[in-house]
Amino acid sequence: MDVRYPGMRLRVLALLVSFLAIAGSGCRKAEPAREAKPQPPPPPPRPTSVSDAILNEFVPNEAGAVMVIMYHRIEANRPNNEMNRTPDQFRKDLKDLYDRGFLPVTLREYAENRIDLPAGKSPVVLTFDDAYRSQFAYLDPAGSEIDPDCAVGIMEAFSRDHPDFKPKGTFFVLQGGSNPPAFGQLGLVGQKFAHLVAIGSEIGCHTLSHANFRRLSAQGVAKEIAGGIKAIQAELPDAQVTSLAIPYGNIPRDPAARKACVDGTADGFTYHMSAVALAAWRPTMATIGKVGKVGPFAGQFASGDPAAIERVLPDPRQATKAGTLEYYLKYFDQNPGLRYVSDGLDTVIAVPQSMASLVDEAKVKALDRKLQIYTPAPVTPASEPRKSATGGSG
Ligand SMILES: [Zn+2]
Repeated sequence: MDVRYPGMRLRVLALLVSFLAIAGSGCRKAEPAREAKPQPPPPPPRPTSVSDAILNEFVPNEAGAVMVIMYHRIEANRPNNEMNRTPDQFRKDLKDLYDRGFLPVTLREYAENRIDLPAGKSPVVLTFDDAYRSQFAYLDPAGSEIDPDCAVGIMEAFSRDHPDFKPKGTFFVLQGGSNPPAFGQLGLVGQKFAHLVAIGSEIGCHTLSHANFRRLSAQGVAKEIAGGIKAIQAELPDAQVTSLAIPYGNIPRDPAARKACVDGTADGFTYHMSAVALAAWRPTMATIGKVGKVGPFAGQFASGDPAAIERVLPDPRQATKAGTLEYYLKYFDQNPGLRYVSDGLDTVIAVPQSMASLVDEAKVKALDRKLQIYTPAPVTPASEPRKSATGGSG
């Protein structure tokens, strides 16, 4: 008995524990039904560094250059030139970009460093100026069917076939004042604006009267921008308008007017533009970069100034000239290391050592991200399938 006594005491304790457990669970059953739902596990902590595997496979570069493409008309009955892209050519542009690993983001996402793409993908910004009907048209006056040959119809069809390619564009519209209705169909303007926002696109301001800013005063600039935004919000009251395309890309001469392109007030309406687009001619560095003539790419690319974003222009007649989409598609084929490549993490900005000096660390800090400078693994012959596949140069 003496020997078994401690064991019995343990068994009594065990009985007591299980009784309490049953009594406890009984109490829980009496609680409201919400307790019955299993709690989801807490989210895993967000990674704060990019893995070597991702660095080696994709060579991310979040300080690299981005193409912001400037489109105007998308019409079949006009030739391909600097103001028009045929629907078929526009479809080909999307495929050419997609096949090279480019996925669209809005100008706002680019300017505000909110580029959310999988590792290895590069952002491209598709912008559309002047709100031509061929950018967004319905086939019927009731607005029930989108024209499959307009820019929005083409982007949505491409997105259905390639789900990682979102139908995201930035549309710099002309609306209100003495403008015809944006996108040319009276009575459908608000519906079109709402649709653009619903698919992840952005409505940008292109001023009220397509004014030439060159000689305007700060107040003149502010009136044009505030008027443009108010006209958009008259059609879609909660539209967030934070991107501006300066007509003709003509920056004001007056420094105060230049500031008014970003911040201003007119007629009691205050605005802030997080992105200001100019016209052609260069890709623009990531906005995490230093602004001004810095680094090895000064002159070659526009610096990452969100208040002066240069664009590239599709124009097959100038395909061999710097400035066009045709030129830069080839350029980035030959210089893949210069383009922005996502690291896939919104907590980190991964940059190869060769571009580290271009990064503005204060901007990284303001975004609460971690800067990860790394040295890309040397390229070995085995990792150059293109050379060996074509027999190489040897
Ligand atoms: Zn324009």
